[in-house]
Amino acid sequence: MQLNFGDFDKTNIVPLSTIDWKGKAAMVVFLKGCNFKCCYCQNFRIAQNFSPAATEELLGEIRRNKQFVNALVFSGGEPTLHPIALKTLAAECKRHGLLVGIETNGSFPEVLETMISTQLLDGLFIDLKAPLTDTKKYAQITGTTITDACVRRILETINVGRTAFIARTLLDLELRTTLFKNLLSDVEIKELVNQFPDIPFALQQGRTEQCPQRSLIPLTRNELIDIATQCGRPLKVRTREQGEEDIS
Ligand code: SF4
Repeated sequence: MQLNFGDFDKTNIVPLSTIDWKGKAAMVVFLKGCNFKCCYCQNFRIAQNFSPAATEELLGEIRRNKQFVNALVFSGGEPTLHPIALKTLAAECKRHGLLVGIETNGSFPEVLETMISTQLLDGLFIDLKAPLTDTKKYAQITGTTITDACVRRILETINVGRTAFIARTLLDLELRTTLFKNLLSDVEIKELVNQFPDIPFALQQGRTEQCPQRSLIPLTRNELIDIATQCGRPLKVRTREQGEEDIS
């Protein structure tokens, strides 16, 4: 079996993270390749690299790390571009009693639906880029041609997650958006977070160190909290200064 993980490279694994899934000690695996080219991607090198490699080393890493963590988070890149390998790796995690989470841009709902229905997924974290009513803005941020069909697929992913979360076949569900001063307006942010009032939502402070578009300006913690407070619903805010905070 092949996994799009690049030449096996431990820099594509975080052996232990306590910030990618709240309350969990998680190993994070960054899978290469992405169908988007977001202007603020912090993993641009990984996202735009499509070289394949065998899964065996990664399975070995899971076995070696399993006593130090209680979860594994697949990140990227876009992990659902590799459905067969993803299911194999998730099944290995389950065999060792680990919870499985995925950070995704939501483009491939069928992969996630299958993983949920086969009990291979516990945490679904969907990264939204802009209001899903604004395909032009979505295309601008993701550097791709976003069609109505793409938007429908992302909405379908949200619905799959919501249904499973309500039915308790999914342990955790979160929508996330990364913010910069000059990317989404306050009005657009409010529209986005209130499009899904029943789903936990986190606003994340953007970082510019490794992103391709250097003209982006990060928001301060106070600016993020101000925006979150104006949104009129409970939100999480994540910043470098304070980590995760609940805003109601
Ligand atoms: S969807 Fe995520 S991994 Fe892909 S380009 Fe955008 S930020 Fe990077």
